[in-house]
Amino acid sequence: MPLSQPMFDRVALIGIGLIGSSLARVMRRENIAREIFISTRSKDTLERARQLELGDAYFAMASEAAKDADLVVISVPVGASGSVAKAIAPNLKSGAIVTDVGSTKTSVIAQIQPELPENVHFVPGHPIAGTEYSGPDSGFAALFEDRWCILTPPDGTDENAVKMLANFWHACGSDVELMDAAHHDQVLALVSHLPQLISYNIVATASDFEDVSKAEVIKYSASGFRDFTRLASSDPTMWRDVCLHNKEAVLEMLARFSEDLSSLRASIRRGDGDSLFDLFSKTRSIRRSIIEAGQDIDAPNFGRTPMDEED
Ligand code: NAP
Repeated sequence: MPLSQPMFDRVALIGIGLIGSSLARVMRRENIAREIFISTRSKDTLERARQLELGDAYFAMASEAAKDADLVVISVPVGASGSVAKAIAPNLKSGAIVTDVGSTKTSVIAQIQPELPENVHFVPGHPIAGTEYSGPDSGFAALFEDRWCILTPPDGTDENAVKMLANFWHACGSDVELMDAAHHDQVLALVSHLPQLISYNIVATASDFEDVSKAEVIKYSASGFRDFTRLASSDPTMWRDVCLHNKEAVLEMLARFSEDLSSLRASIRRGDGDSLFDLFSKTRSIRRSIIEAGQDIDAPNFGRTPMDEED
C-alpha cells in the first residue's frame, strides 16, 4: 500500500544504476518522496533516466540535485563515494540526511564523513539485494522486498535520522538491521565478497583450461559451472572497488577458504569418504536454512522476480 503522505519532501539520488534506479521506482510506487531529483556522472545515463521517467528533475551536477534535499542517497561504486560527498557538501541543507548503499562500510564512512558539514546527518547503509546487471534499465521496484538493509551509523549519529532512514527502507520493503561497520565488512566478506571472488576465479580457471574447449565449457555448463558464471558477470568496477575497499576482511576470508580447500583436497587424496560425506551433509543443511528463511529466490513459491541475488 503506498503511503498516504510522502515521507520526504525531496530525495536526491546521486548515481542511477541498478540500486539508484530501483530506489527511484519503489519510491514512486510507494509515494515515499514528493519529488525525486536525479544526478549521474554521464550525460548518456542521465538521458536514459529521463527517458525512463525515473525522477522529477535531472542534473549533470550532483551538487545541484542535492540542494535542498531532505534525503540524499549516494549510489555509486564505493571508490567514488568520497568525491561525490565532497561535491555535494557545500549545497546540503541543514538537517538533511545523507546515506549511501555501498557494499563496504568502513572505507565508505572514512571517505564520506570528513567531507560532510556538521549540520547534516550521515547514516551509512547497505541493501543486501542486487543482481548481476547494471545501469538504470536494470532496476526494478521489487528489488528490496523481503531483503535486509544493514545500517551502520557511526557512534553519536542522530537517533531520529537513523529511525527515519530505517522507516525509508521499511517503506521500500526491506527489514532493517543495525550493525557496526567493521562487523558488517567481515560478515559481507564471508557471505558476499568471497563467493564473488570464487566465482570469478572458477570462470577464469575454466577459460584458461587448455584440454577442454570453450565450446564444451558452454555446452555442458548446466552441470554446475553456469551458476558461477552469473556471479562472475557482475560489474567489474563495483567488484574491483569492493576488493580494494574491504581488503583486510577479504584477504582473511580467502585465507580461511584456502585452508578449508586444502583440507578438502586432503580428504579426497586420502580417500576419506566419511569426511567428505559429513562436510557435504553440513553444507546441505545450510542451504535448507536459507530456503526456510525466505532468502532464496530459486526455491519453490518464492515467485517475486526472475532475477538473482548479489550482495
Ligand atoms: P551501477 O548500476 O553500475 O550504477 C553506478 C552508478 O554510479 C551510475 O549512475 C554511474 O554513473 C555512477 N558512477 C560510476 N562510476 C562513478 C564515478 N567514478 N563517480 C561518480 N559516479 C559514478 O551500480 P549499482 O549496482 O547501482 O551499485 C551502486 C552501489 O551500490 C555500489 O556502491 C555497490 O557497491 C552498491 N550495491 C550494489 C549491489 C548490486 O547488486 N549491484 C547491491 C548492493 C549494493 P554513469 O552511468 O553516469 O557513469
